Amino acid sequence: MIFNNVDFDTYFKHYPDANGYFGKYGGAYVSEELKIAMQDITEAYQTICKSRKFISELRRIRKEFQGRPTPISYLERLSGKLGNVQLYAKREDLNHTGAHKLNHCMGEALLAKYMGKKKVIAETGAGQHGVALATAAAYFGLECDIYMGSVDIKKQAPNVARMKILGARVIEVTEGLQTLKEAVDAAFAAYCREYKDAIYCIGSVLGPHPFPMMVRDFQSVVGIEAREQFLEMTGELPDAVVACVGGGSNAAGMFAGFLNDPVDIYGVEPLGRGPALGDHAASLKYGTEGIMHGFNSIMLKDENGEPAPVYSVASGLDYPSSGPEHAFLHDLGRVKYDVVDDEETINAFFELSRMEGIIPAIESAHAVAYGMKLAKQMGKGSVLINLSGRGDKDMDYIIEKYGIRE
Ligand SMILES: *Cc1c(COP(=O)(O)O)cnc(C)c1O
Repeated sequence: MIFNNVDFDTYFKHYPDANGYFGKYGGAYVSEELKIAMQDITEAYQTICKSRKFISELRRIRKEFQGRPTPISYLERLSGKLGNVQLYAKREDLNHTGAHKLNHCMGEALLAKYMGKKKVIAETGAGQHGVALATAAAYFGLECDIYMGSVDIKKQAPNVARMKILGARVIEVTEGLQTLKEAVDAAFAAYCREYKDAIYCIGSVLGPHPFPMMVRDFQSVVGIEAREQFLEMTGELPDAVVACVGGGSNAAGMFAGFLNDPVDIYGVEPLGRGPALGDHAASLKYGTEGIMHGFNSIMLKDENGEPAPVYSVASGLDYPSSGPEHAFLHDLGRVKYDVVDDEETINAFFELSRMEGIIPAIESAHAVAYGMKLAKQMGKGSVLINLSGRGDKDMDYIIEKYGIRE
């Protein structure tokens, strides 16, 4: 399928290009020293991802350890309530550790093992990426250093405990605001010191090349499975596919399965409390082109051109940019990026729980909310929603802030 001069038949061959660009977005804006480390990782990945041994080992792990393929569920009662559109959910909440993040963490850790590295390094905000990476490190017998701001360590005690139980070192970052941004800086600095023995594992389709490509490729299992399963269940393709977008990894994986199909694709960003800067994290909707954290993309900036403060009810979505591939697909118009606010999201959270017996992660509830809105607009057809994770991690927050809505 050709869309605005891009041939999606051969899309994955050309995007990103050899330097990691999706159109003008992407690249690797890092120090000369790190450039060499990134080239090493790129070369290793390019070799390994074609190796039969690597592919079959990853397949085995997906099946025996992660519990893949995850199913697609038909949301029968919710569909009935909304009208004549059939809603379906791809159940990444049933992936081991309860979200899609393990899909790329297992890939990154397997790559680390093949490259002869002893350690994986990452930062974490809410702790979800840290837990997924600690899980992968335990599986492969790798050391794991997770950098986390002091404020987040206090807020996310259960995830800190999980990482430690899994054998990771959680390294407290006491600089600045003591949250994700400082943790990113500390993890990057550690990687610069240790890159000979360690590999830096990014938590989404972000950062310098080759990470946006690698993470997308590892996550594409979601879209490839979903396309096959949906065809088998219904005999057709869905009319629309929906996923929430923070950094954009679950969306990139899901979309990868459908880019070359006559399917409408929607990425859903968090509008939070509203459109004023600081009240949301809808970077593709309200942002402008810029470079941060080693890549060129669309980002939210403050008056000094620095990454702006962002907010979302879902801690996994509050990042001031999105992956370069999303910026590309946004400009191209192949994917439509839209928003839902906190209130719509929380309503969808309770609706899916009550109507279907599935408690979604608040991140995923953004996609559910949008899927429900879309169903009302469409009037007929089918919508496939990527349910990126389960809501167990959000229970305390929901109870405290919203109650249980009897
Ligand atoms: C981390 C997280 C997200 C956001 O990350 P993406 O890279 O945008 O996918 C979404 N859903 C869940 C459940 C998460 O844990």
